[in-house]
Amino acid sequence: MVSRVIPVEPFDLVIFGATGDLANRKILPGLYRRFFAGQIPEGSRIIGAARSELDPEGFRAQVRAAIAEHVGAAKRDADQIAGFLALLDYVAVDAQGEGGWEALKALVRPDRVNAFYFSVAPALFGPLAERLHAHGIATPAARIVVEKPFGRDLATARALNATLAAHFDEHQIYRIDHYLGKETVQNLMAVRFANILFEPLWNAQYIDHVQITVAETVGVGGRGSYYDKSGAMRDMVQNHLMQLLCLIAMEPPYHFDPDAVRDEKLKVIRALQPVRPEDIVRGQYIARGTAETDYVRDAENPASKTESYIALRVHVANWRWQGTPFYLRTGKRLRARTSEIAITFKQPPHSIFDDEEANWRENVLVIRLQPNEGMNLKVMIKEPGPGGMRLVQVPLDMSFAEALGEEGTDIPDAYERLIMDVIRGNQTLFMRGDEVEAAWAWTDPVIAGWEARGDKPKPYDSGSSGPDDALMLMHRDGRRWREIRE
Ligand code: NAP
Repeated sequence: MVSRVIPVEPFDLVIFGATGDLANRKILPGLYRRFFAGQIPEGSRIIGAARSELDPEGFRAQVRAAIAEHVGAAKRDADQIAGFLALLDYVAVDAQGEGGWEALKALVRPDRVNAFYFSVAPALFGPLAERLHAHGIATPAARIVVEKPFGRDLATARALNATLAAHFDEHQIYRIDHYLGKETVQNLMAVRFANILFEPLWNAQYIDHVQITVAETVGVGGRGSYYDKSGAMRDMVQNHLMQLLCLIAMEPPYHFDPDAVRDEKLKVIRALQPVRPEDIVRGQYIARGTAETDYVRDAENPASKTESYIALRVHVANWRWQGTPFYLRTGKRLRARTSEIAITFKQPPHSIFDDEEANWRENVLVIRLQPNEGMNLKVMIKEPGPGGMRLVQVPLDMSFAEALGEEGTDIPDAYERLIMDVIRGNQTLFMRGDEVEAAWAWTDPVIAGWEARGDKPKPYDSGSSGPDDALMLMHRDGRRWREIRE
């Protein structure tokens, strides 16, 4: 299969926070990979901006090192790297000061696609938006890209939306949720809406329940004190898991068009019921060996009540999903690093096979986000061999890497895809302001509830599947979590 890369027109991209962690690990290596793939034409400019007093050569040296560290050897070609570095420039600017802005203005060409990536702390989004305007750098066609976290509750998200809206129209604002840039996540829409097989079964009549798991093996060490102000609900559920839930639960949009898709996602968020206290399990990891530390130590807060793990039983209150629970869980220091969505179908209404031989297992469609992106449909077949009709469950497994050959092993990173969507002006995979606010409107009372009750997170061993209470969340419904494994 031949990989198709559609080049874009030359553009100017300014990365605020170009000396930071995200820029060096994800944004700049991702842009290099797109250049390597032939998608970024010569004549484009990538302009780094931060307070550090670097000259363009110093910035290029930094980016060369970032490529060496974060791009695989197969794509590190001396000529390609030189070509990419030639697109780079750098301006020292302070988001809260006045120096450097005129130099930046001189570099950004108003007759090109302009994009401004705000890879800085959210407190600087407003000052940046203001200055881009005051100095006449942003045109009405310019785009801004903003990173998570988008607020820490409804009030702050609203304030942030209002600040950005003072200077930019909604069609210019690209709120990144990198989960939406993952190949499998988009494939979820392809599977649902480009096949006749699944959609007729995609409802409470045929789907027993849905499990969404995002498990990490790392703890919060390093950014513990920052994380402690947030917790798994704010850091993962309000945005990433919520977006995955939306893509599973939404109605078919009338067209694959940014607002049509986002309208349908918004309806799902609005249909989410308040979560009952008994449907929430929060946890905090504790050390298992001497090499590990407890969450409270990593968070530098011995009295912390912040959760590093959360499991929720959630209901989408509409006709399609009446009676089908969605179980969400995410946590740190778990047994394996894995993200998946598992859709468990109901059993056939009547069995023609003898029960003891049938060995019934439900059909399960598993969508793996990481590792090894792909899908797996578990179906029942006859166990081979003579001697009666015994059934066995087998996976119809599709690893994208295997199914798509070379192209499947070369799936662009979520950031690469999303940045190119910004340049193309396609907002489908970015959250709209009203979506973010609706997500906080659902999240806030859940958090306020456990704060008012003074609930403490349950301890769980590092390297386990989370607190035992989370098992009960499903056991009491007669269901079981899938094993967390790579
Ligand atoms: P970081 O490593 O602390 O980098 C911050 C960047 O902002 C630096 O380049 C810094 O450069 C620049 N900066 C700070 N104050 C500035 C000012 N007044 N004017 C202009 N530039 C200024 O942070 P990060 O981890 O890259 O994160 C950036 C954003 O992405 C944050 O909103 C974060 O929440 C979000 N994010 C990060 C990750 C990640 O994996 N790192 C993941 C998801 C979201 P100077 O000091 O040279 O000015």
